[in-house]
Amino acid sequence: MNVITARLLTALLLVSLVACERRPPEYHEQLLVFGTVVDVKLYGVDAKRGAPLVAQLAEDFEYMHETWHAWHPGSLGRVNQLLPSGATFAVGPSLLPLIKRSQELSARSGGLFNPAIGKLIALWGFASDEPPSGPPPTEAQIRAILDSKPAMTDLHLDGINIRSDNPAVKLDFGAFAKGYAVDRAIERLREAGIVDAVVNAGGDLRAIGRHGQRPWRIGIRHPRGEGILASVEVEGDESVFTSGDYERYFDWQGKRYDHIIDPRSGRPAKGLSSVTVFADQADLADAAATALFVAGPKDWLPVARAMGVSGVMLVDDAGNVQMTPGIRERIHFEMDEPPPVVISEAL
Ligand code: AMP
Ligand code: MG
Repeated sequence: MNVITARLLTALLLVSLVACERRPPEYHEQLLVFGTVVDVKLYGVDAKRGAPLVAQLAEDFEYMHETWHAWHPGSLGRVNQLLPSGATFAVGPSLLPLIKRSQELSARSGGLFNPAIGKLIALWGFASDEPPSGPPPTEAQIRAILDSKPAMTDLHLDGINIRSDNPAVKLDFGAFAKGYAVDRAIERLREAGIVDAVVNAGGDLRAIGRHGQRPWRIGIRHPRGEGILASVEVEGDESVFTSGDYERYFDWQGKRYDHIIDPRSGRPAKGLSSVTVFADQADLADAAATALFVAGPKDWLPVARAMGVSGVMLVDDAGNVQMTPGIRERIHFEMDEPPPVVISEAL
């Protein structure tokens, strides 16, 4: 090596060391909470600041998971035990805002997102740690619950007190508690002064700020659970939630029965295999993904408009993709042969 080459190498080494020093730190941690892997990424944050923050998030998630669980004993279990009596009783402070917000979102969805149908969800066997194995319930069993029309409007809140007009109401927040929890996590991070972060709960996420010089890049799950269908860049403040028939289901005599129940028929919703919703808040994105899945491939647009989401991508059960115009430009399919896409009317 001659002197010039040696000097050049030293100079290059120095430049790269300076570049390394200038690059802001990133803190990344995965938590096993809320029945899923929650991936937290904080940009511009070192481990000393990030670790205690994420430990706090883990504690919050644990608490929310226990308090809001639809079938494990806890605060929601107690509420569900007392509701059928028709009596007025006090609800814990952690459940009250969840009930109020879900009443509002249920109304906006025209009742397609309906957390009052806990009895139907349990009847199909989905209120259980193990996925059910069938057989599906009988028409008479379904009818018995449907005829009493459980709805969020049956619940009456007065301060911290609640009462149900309808003994058939049983609350199940499975369609939106994760979104609500992700919103609380982002709120807590912001309170701590964090500007650039992603909280990703098993593929459902809210991102704020940027990843340094570029937006955050995130993956959208494939409806058949085979890795990533597409990637998309998000920045500023955006939530992306997917509902699919691949998450919890059972097969019975050649037919698939999945965990998203159409409150009108009392049966698993048909026609779609996944719905991805973009919205400014995670709880809205979560509730809307479930509601649009119920609405189905022909009727989702008015529901998306009424709920106030900012973008939608759906995959029907034949593999055809529909998207709202703004989303088409942002989606990048992660496959050799991208599926045909139909662009819908604007939201
Ligand atoms: P998600 O994966 O967010 O679509 O939530 C699905 C879960 O929400 C199910 O496992 C049920 O616990 C619950 N659920 C099913 N159907 C509905 C519905 N129509 N409205 C509200 N919650 C529902
Ligand atoms: Mg949902």
